Amino acid sequence: MTSASIQTPSASESTDAAPLDSPSRSPATGKANLAGMSLAHLREFFATLGEKPFRAAQVLKWIHQRGVIDFQAMTDISKPLRDKLMEVAEIQLPEVVEDYESDDGSHKWIIEVASGSRVEMVFIPESGRGTLCVSSQAGCSLDCSFCATGKQGFNSNLTVAEIIGQLWWANKKLGGFIGVTERPVSNVVMMGMGEPLLNFDHVMEAISLMMEDCAYGLSKRKVTISTSGVVPAIDKLKDHTDASIAVSLHAPNDALRSEIVPINKKYPIAMLLESVQGYMNSLNDKRLPVIEYTLIAGVNDHRQHARELAVLLKDFPCKINIIPFNPFELSDYRRPSSTSITNFRQILQQAGYTVTVRTTRADDIGAACGQLVGNVADQTKRSSRHLARHERLIASSAGG
Ligand code: SAH
Ligand code: SF4
Repeated sequence: MTSASIQTPSASESTDAAPLDSPSRSPATGKANLAGMSLAHLREFFATLGEKPFRAAQVLKWIHQRGVIDFQAMTDISKPLRDKLMEVAEIQLPEVVEDYESDDGSHKWIIEVASGSRVEMVFIPESGRGTLCVSSQAGCSLDCSFCATGKQGFNSNLTVAEIIGQLWWANKKLGGFIGVTERPVSNVVMMGMGEPLLNFDHVMEAISLMMEDCAYGLSKRKVTISTSGVVPAIDKLKDHTDASIAVSLHAPNDALRSEIVPINKKYPIAMLLESVQGYMNSLNDKRLPVIEYTLIAGVNDHRQHARELAVLLKDFPCKINIIPFNPFELSDYRRPSSTSITNFRQILQQAGYTVTVRTTRADDIGAACGQLVGNVADQTKRSSRHLARHERLIASSAGG
């Protein structure tokens, strides 16, 4: 179900209250791809074959807990049913085409998706946990001014199998399927390429597999959706998941936010915070949303911005995560100095907020936050515009 069209926020709004997309079928073979089906969809699939619903959990365990994608190796399924499955179904995951390991132990893998684009996922090991940063789209239509993915333009939504396939591959590569009591990936953040809430149905289905006991069994606290603020999608989130949420705010007022996060013109800060609060209220627990703030030198890192942020969020229970800007080739922005990071943090802490500063990981393999670019066949022609602008700037600075 990759789409070649440019997806805009309004395209996602039209999915309001619609039932979630049905499972994918391979365009090449016409067979149902069981790798991209949640427990509910797999049960429906087995019902159409006249089989008992418990088959769904059996198959999910084979694929997502044991890493087995050959029907004939599924030994608790009868031979006639295995043969039937080979006829009508398949288990197709994306291919890993590049594999990098950072000096700090992080990994970056690049997968090729059906549209032909290449997208990236990153695994970051820390003491006591391992976080996988998962992509949801090839490119992104939202064009935030500081984001390498945005500069690539938008190519396609990833299918469910392409999203969950990233977690499958991370387990496969890190030895997480066989004979382990603790899996290497303990946390998933939807902070790779793309805006997850603009690929709503596929991301919801993939997240349900991440949290499903007979698949990856991650708790709702350990799966985080990061969004730049697609308000209509946040409004309907509670009907589909109870995963954790991070909000990419990056500015304390609408004027500045609209400059660096263009979707703010459509869904301004007050509307966004109200929508997120509605979701948090629906969760009925003590979790807090994370406010992400990419700190960019000379743009949003003044002391006054920190003070304004402290006031803005005073009635909005949250944690704040500062992400120092990670430079990339097509950007003129600079990383803030460590003094300005410290000052920014201190002002917020003194105002009573819990603040973390994200340490930069894996930038030696181009896998730090916001550096993920893959190789996206841009449908929006944005990448060539950015490249032309960049070349003009270089030419003019060389000339003068
Ligand atoms: N589209 C979603 C998720 C992907 S971006 C979102 O915007 O939230 C994941 C995080 O990386 C976001 O908080 C984003 O603002 C941040 N980010 C993007 N580019 C960055 C850069 N160059 N340096 C640091 N953080 C960046
Ligand atoms: Fe898209 Fe997120 Fe990058 Fe903005 S920061 S362009 S929403 S991926």
